[in-house]
Amino acid sequence: MTAAASPPEIPSASTSSLHHDHDPVVEFAIDAYWLGEWHGPATVTLSSDGISVVPDAPTAAPTAAARRIPGVLLPGFRDSHVHLGLTEPRALIAGGLAAVDDLGGDPALLAGWEADNSTPALRFAGAFITAPGGYPSRRAWAAALSVCEVSTIEQAIVAVADQVSAGATMVKIALNSEDGPVLDDAILVSVVEYAHSRGCDVVAHVQGAGEAERAFEAGVDRLAHTPWTERLDDSLIAAMAKTDSRFLAGGHSWVSTLDIHGYGQGGVDFEIASDNLRRFHGAGGTVRYGTDLGNGDLPLGLNQRELAALQNAGVSGDALLRSLCLPSFGAVASYLPTVPEADTDLTEWLMTATVVTAPELMRIT
Ligand SMILES: [Zn+2]
Repeated sequence: MTAAASPPEIPSASTSSLHHDHDPVVEFAIDAYWLGEWHGPATVTLSSDGISVVPDAPTAAPTAAARRIPGVLLPGFRDSHVHLGLTEPRALIAGGLAAVDDLGGDPALLAGWEADNSTPALRFAGAFITAPGGYPSRRAWAAALSVCEVSTIEQAIVAVADQVSAGATMVKIALNSEDGPVLDDAILVSVVEYAHSRGCDVVAHVQGAGEAERAFEAGVDRLAHTPWTERLDDSLIAAMAKTDSRFLAGGHSWVSTLDIHGYGQGGVDFEIASDNLRRFHGAGGTVRYGTDLGNGDLPLGLNQRELAALQNAGVSGDALLRSLCLPSFGAVASYLPTVPEADTDLTEWLMTATVVTAPELMRIT
């Protein structure tokens, strides 16, 4: 809010490629926005490059922008764990989601949705990589997705390379010792090293005693679920929360998926997961909002119960927004018509968000 901003300047539009030079640019005033932290009154610029926001200088007279929209803008919301093949991909933007990470599905279908403007911005892992007979190869719903069962390092590397060729930018592995055989350590480490060499994060489904630790030790970047089958030791959680160059993003992270345990009814698994997540977040770990959308009876869009479970586990305020929001404004943003007060329940307030593109915001003005 105190940054020396010059609202009328529009760096993103003026420095962009030549063919954007003559595109119309629209500015308007807004009450506030959030980008890592809250900022007060601001000027929003809409152009063919998308949406950009700069705070008004504290001493500035009311902004020169002729028009004003009541309310606030946040970067788009991302669900970091979905299965588009098991859901209604074209219903999700209306449900408040600007972006999703698909953690297991047919890469050919996913590549099609990636190119489809009526679905959220998509990053995907492609097929699950697992041991022969391992989870989820025997699940009924896995037929609708795609599973690569590998028994050697060579097969595992081919499986990763195939997903990357199909457009995957992350790799999903399953380590579920409660539901069949799992990849051994040699294959696991090879998958991680090869995926990293191709610029892909590795995301693991871990289930069963010791699997979370095994994934972490092998260099798995992200857990697809907060671990729920065991209480992790504080020492392991502290190690997982640290920044560490073994991981592609410089650290290990977890996707929340608390609501799949009980769908609002709680239960033992929900309690174990919430306790692990509370300690991981408390130790400084990176948490991502994610629901496993497509798996079970979940709302087609933002899930208020997941937000509330995160908040109850201590991921509240700015941390809750950080877990949910894309790192910047861009082609889309989340528009909310009211400014939250100190006592506003953020989980309720977030449910009033609409995904908007620059042209849609121009129409609101
Ligand atoms: Zn899943």
